[in-house]
This record gives sequence, C-alpha cells and structure tokens, in this order.
Amino acid sequence: MSRILVVEDEAHIADGLRYNLEAEGHDVEIASDGRAAAERLADAQRPLDLVVLDLMLPEMNGFEVARRARAAGNYVPILILTAKDSAEDMVRGLEEGGDDYLTKPFQLDELLARVRVLLRRRRWDGVDPDGEGPRSEQFGDVTVHFDRFEMETPRGLVALTTREVALLRALIDREGQAVPRGDLLEEVWGLKPGTRTRVVDSFVARLRKYIETDPSHPRHIVSVRGHGYRFIR
Ligand code: CA
Repeated sequence: MSRILVVEDEAHIADGLRYNLEAEGHDVEIASDGRAAAERLADAQRPLDLVVLDLMLPEMNGFEVARRARAAGNYVPILILTAKDSAEDMVRGLEEGGDDYLTKPFQLDELLARVRVLLRRRRWDGVDPDGEGPRSEQFGDVTVHFDRFEMETPRGLVALTTREVALLRALIDREGQAVPRGDLLEEVWGLKPGTRTRVVDSFVARLRKYIETDPSHPRHIVSVRGHGYRFIR
C-alpha cells in the first residue's frame, strides 16, 4: 500500500481521485490548498510515496509547493495536473521538480496508469525498471543504483526521482558523447526537442550537486556549449 497526497481544491475532482486511488489499495490524503500541502510535505515523520499536485490552488500555487519540497530535499515523485493548453505551466511545473504531468481534463484511466508507473519505479523490486542496462553504475566516489532509485555519494545516500534516474541513464548510456538538449527533452520528459525550457539544465544542476565534488567545475556531467551535455566516467 502506498501513501498518496492529492493536492486539489476542486472537491469533486479530489473526491473522485480519492475514491479511485483507494479502490487501487492506496492510502489517500487530500490537501485543498497549497499551504496545507506544503505543511504536509514538510512532515518528515510521515513520508509520502507520491503527490498528485494541481497547480492552480488557493493560498500557495503548486509551483511553490513543489519548489519548497525540492529545496528541502524532499524528492517524493510528483505528478502535476495542469490546465489544458498551458504548455508554459507544464514546463515550469517540471522545472520546479515535477516528475510527470497530465493536462486537465484528464482521463481517469490515464491518471491511474501514470500513478502506477511512478510508484512502481519507486519501489525496490530488484528489477531494472527499464529492462535494459546494468542495475548499478560506479564512477568517481558515486554509485548509482538504478533499480532502487538511490545513489551513494560521499555526502550520503540520495533518493532519486524518476526523471533524475532517466536523465542519468540517458547520459551514461552515451558515455563520452555530446548529447543534444533536444534529445534529452524528448527522451526523458517526452517534450518536443524545440521546447524552450531550462528543465534539462535545472535537472543537470541538481545531479551535479549530488555527484560532483565541485559542482561549479563538473568532471562527470560536462556542458557542451550550445549543444547539451556529455557524461565522463
Ligand atoms: Ca485548482
């Protein structure tokens, strides 16, 4: 059983999600405004397995909720709900640390499928989530456990989100090659290669904080100017 926080101010949507997620065997909590959600996320005594986060909320918007959680080192998977036709919101939601997104109105089946994927990839079932590549990689002082979504670093154990794992995998699989930003956007986030966003750069900055001895002089994930990034073991 997983513990899921639904952050949604429209009661009929929140109730519908609760009903259906409980039917799948999950423990569901609802926060109906951003401030309540941020407080719940800050409670380290009761960790969550997943957050379904609407962006347009009273008190505090969903961007700020996600930003605060990530800034506090909470990397619980976040599934973002955005208004239809708001590509900018979706991209910004990912930049603030969302792992996946759905546009409203969404199909319930689609939401439940996304939830299953995010939860499955979070769980340590001893199976490589993508069914390809080695389950762990070691470089420098770092060991990445792809199957556990964890990374051992000199500064301690880091829990990784699905996008962080996917980005690392994409770079490591092309070790030594300069990988274009557009390829990463498409492969890791499912966005069009031409999307104007700093999402790749903000995730690279995050990964560098975990793996680089000096993040301002990276040795493992290096920038290729005007192009993208290259992984060096
Ligand atoms: Ca709303």
